[in-house]
Amino acid sequence: MGYNRGMFIDSHCHINFPELAARMPEVLAQMAHNKVTHALCVSVDLPDFPQVLALAHQYPHIYASVGVHPDYEDTPEPSVEQLVELANDPKIIAIGETGLDYFRLQGDLEWQRERFRTHIRASRQCRKPLIIHTRSASEDTLRIMREEGAGTDAGGVAGVMHCFTESLEVARAAIEMGFYISFSGIVTFKSAKELQAVALELPLERILIETDAPYLAPVPYRGKMNEPGFVAHVGEYIAKLKGVPVEQVAQQTTANFFQLFQLQP
Ligand SMILES: [Zn+2]
Ligand SMILES: [Zn+2]
Repeated sequence: MGYNRGMFIDSHCHINFPELAARMPEVLAQMAHNKVTHALCVSVDLPDFPQVLALAHQYPHIYASVGVHPDYEDTPEPSVEQLVELANDPKIIAIGETGLDYFRLQGDLEWQRERFRTHIRASRQCRKPLIIHTRSASEDTLRIMREEGAGTDAGGVAGVMHCFTESLEVARAAIEMGFYISFSGIVTFKSAKELQAVALELPLERILIETDAPYLAPVPYRGKMNEPGFVAHVGEYIAKLKGVPVEQVAQQTTANFFQLFQLQP
């Protein structure tokens, strides 16, 4: 399979995780082979942030974010000031990943909601977009986004609902707040009929694509270790689903990425 007709961006991956970091030359070569021009390496906690930042400084086509994932319970809690300070670097283009996850964790999750609010406040302060993770928690996620003034309507900054698996209604609510919807390899899975229906409905102008590598490899690599180069398969799948040329998906999702993160292509 060749991708000489389009260039893609992986809007969300974790290439600092040891299984990918250990094979960095191969990972970068696979990106080049599949014409994946850039990748955004997303932070999940503060102890790992220096590695994430180092990757972004080492490679011109790797960007990074700063944030603490909602699934990380026993990890240093960030303050607004700390996030704003760490985000003060041209290669740090986003705050996150942040959000709510009531699927992985149960019980009293007030700390998750507080942590999410902290990230939204930091995003508003430093004017960098949010990367939002939401799982089995869409109602609270949207409520807190509204309460904290996330999104362009509220004078805040927009962002992306990453690895989206929610309903069309949730997608539209986020888009109304100025957010983009990012699809991962999950959309290529045979079983993901409802998600495919959502992707079909949404305008290409609001869609990003991602791998969330090393997890969730798209078909035909399902079950294997994922890597940013494979985002081309997500783009190609969405093109087929929508019945549009793959170069159109490549071009539009790339333009969306640069627009959201306020970068010069
Ligand atoms: Zn996530
Ligand atoms: Zn992630």
